[in-house]
Amino acid sequence: MNMIVSKFGGSSLSDASQIKKVCDIIIGNADRKIIVVSAPGVRMANDIKVTDLLISLARERLSGADGDVFFVKILDRFSDIAVALHIEEVLPVIKSHITDTISPVCENQDRYLDAVKSLGEHCCARIVAAYLNRIGVKATFCEPKEFGLLLSSSLGRVSVLEESYDHLSALKNIEGICVFPGFYGYSLEGDIITFTRGGSDVTGSILAAAVDAKVYENWTDVDCVYAVNPKLVTSPFPVHEITYAEMRELAYAGFAVLHEEALYPAYRKGIPVHVRNTNNPSKEGTYIVAKRSVYDSLITGIAGANGFCTLNIKKYLMNREVGFAMKVLGIIADEGLSIEHMPSGIDSVSIVLRTADFTAEKERLIVERVKKDLNVDDVSVTRKLAIVMIVGEAMANTVGTTARAAQALSKAGINLEIINQGASEISVMFGIREEYCNYAVRILYNEFFMK
Ligand code: ASP
Repeated sequence: MNMIVSKFGGSSLSDASQIKKVCDIIIGNADRKIIVVSAPGVRMANDIKVTDLLISLARERLSGADGDVFFVKILDRFSDIAVALHIEEVLPVIKSHITDTISPVCENQDRYLDAVKSLGEHCCARIVAAYLNRIGVKATFCEPKEFGLLLSSSLGRVSVLEESYDHLSALKNIEGICVFPGFYGYSLEGDIITFTRGGSDVTGSILAAAVDAKVYENWTDVDCVYAVNPKLVTSPFPVHEITYAEMRELAYAGFAVLHEEALYPAYRKGIPVHVRNTNNPSKEGTYIVAKRSVYDSLITGIAGANGFCTLNIKKYLMNREVGFAMKVLGIIADEGLSIEHMPSGIDSVSIVLRTADFTAEKERLIVERVKKDLNVDDVSVTRKLAIVMIVGEAMANTVGTTARAAQALSKAGINLEIINQGASEISVMFGIREEYCNYAVRILYNEFFMK
């Protein structure tokens, strides 16, 4: 079967008129069989996403208040939509589901928060299914529990249990259109678990892999992916094709097009991901694929993100000491931190970590152990670093790209604290001071796209 899985983001579902656009898109291609929805997003400047309202509601109730102000706002959002779409019959179902979920403030605060957060997607999927039926298109609301989307959550990381793919493949056999809420699944104990923010992208990718979709469409509010954050540069270069690997590198450095973990299930099955604009469906969008057919620029994209730091260790004759790196990494792993990069010299090594994880307390513990256990000459920490990446598969066959980038940055007076190129040669990473991050991205964009 040539099935398409289509995921629609919060801005595509923010109100009744957006939902109508979504339904027109759904019925515009008979292969669009599985639809994944986010919760309604913002309708205008200063509006609040339903998920944010739900988080406020849950926090209020956890603190002992009734949260009624948020409860009313959330119900209003759904009833405005349902009334405008003439599907008022879903409102009692939605209201009682929200009331049942928020009522028992359970002891496990994380589980409670997740259950309440999931309500936006749950109710939105009910609405989209009801509206499709109203306009004569057979559609079924598919609850993740019933179809076995099982997740586990450990050390703050949510992952899908392998057996879920098997369970979810049953979606193929549903007659008509399946409307599946994104963002959440269930633990083996039956509790709701949500992905991190933007996680409906991950649900869509999991479903696409489970049903062997021919394409996973990710409908959002931009015409395509751009070579650089459009907030930094006017009319940036459009990217119509990009590989999973390139996208992964860019996402790592702050390219916020898809959820960071969304590509993995599609990538494992080689399913192309097509990013498209709900408000401009005739645009070609961007295909994320295993192998590209065209390279219209040397660099595919440039991204930068703040929030990094380095742990710098020096020890004379480090390179001769068997197992030194392993011991350093062991100390960091004992503190539950994952490392980002590890540029090294013969007698020195720097470990790049995320500032959010490497707290002052972790720094104290790690530095103390490195000094005590490894007998080093010097250990220091550099904070407030940004990582800027230039990414492009075409770079592997071109001499001098790193030199060109480094020269452009140095001409602009930006000091390079770290340079790192992975073995795959599809990206070069520069570590610079945080205050130069956006400036450096613009300089590199000028160098590679404007000359
Ligand atoms: N509604 C959730 C959020 O706002 C998940 C999603 O939209 O993908 O993050």
